[in-house]
Amino acid sequence: MPLLLFSLLLSLSSGEPDLSRHIVVFTIDDGYRSVYDYVYPLLRKHKMTATIGLITDYLAGPGGRYGNPATFLSYQQVREMLDSAGIEIASHTLSHPWLTRLDSVSAWREIYRSKEVLESLFGVPVITFVYPYGDMDLRTVRMVRRAGYRLARAVRPGVINFWVDPYRIPEFELRRGTALGAVKNHIRNNPVAVLLLHRVVPKPRLFTEWPVDSFADLLAWMAENRIQTRTLAELYYEWRQGVVALMLSERNASGLILESDSVLLKEVDVDKTGTFNPR
Ligand SMILES: [Zn+2]
Repeated sequence: MPLLLFSLLLSLSSGEPDLSRHIVVFTIDDGYRSVYDYVYPLLRKHKMTATIGLITDYLAGPGGRYGNPATFLSYQQVREMLDSAGIEIASHTLSHPWLTRLDSVSAWREIYRSKEVLESLFGVPVITFVYPYGDMDLRTVRMVRRAGYRLARAVRPGVINFWVDPYRIPEFELRRGTALGAVKNHIRNNPVAVLLLHRVVPKPRLFTEWPVDSFADLLAWMAENRIQTRTLAELYYEWRQGVVALMLSERNASGLILESDSVLLKEVDVDKTGTFNPR
């Protein structure tokens, strides 16, 4: 009897999802050099992209105070990934502090100034913020919003759906020990999956590291199933376009068409991100 029940459950859930409609967002925190060495070549190979959270003080080269080229990405490496893989640059603050433990002036500086630094270094708008350690409270969220960010990724497991707070986007983290099968399952079960990675290396030792071989297998599997990648900014602008399109169609249906509609459409022009993708 249990066996019968089991096979019934299996048959019920065997309706395979259409994976070619699924979207994966790779968010990679801290700007380690391994992103350039191991992630970037694989992204290029499959014409995929990612959102990279940079700590501006650690960025080696111009603007970088503590940057160590052996450990962290350089300005030139980020520039190259921006130009040829359409990556999104997100702010992960100036120095990666616990934001809720700072006084208001210091917290604001970490949030606002890092945006300014990245925008002037790379000449693209920075609309995504990543909370260091996922540490945040209401004050932090208000500052992030006031600084002009449209999105912020948290550090907490969860799924992306219609009700997600854009300033508390949850993730699915890939750590040492996270099985490739578990990641594939998450992608299969979620039309939009936001994945969090730190370092991708040949031999993981730290708990925040994930093996290159698994990453290569994951991308190959995604390509085979025609699963696409987006940056968080691209996702945001697509979502905005969808909302505006729906609004306009409702207005059309009611016979009320405003001149300001064309302005609305202009405002969601994806090219305004500057990170929209040359892939
Ligand atoms: Zn971090």
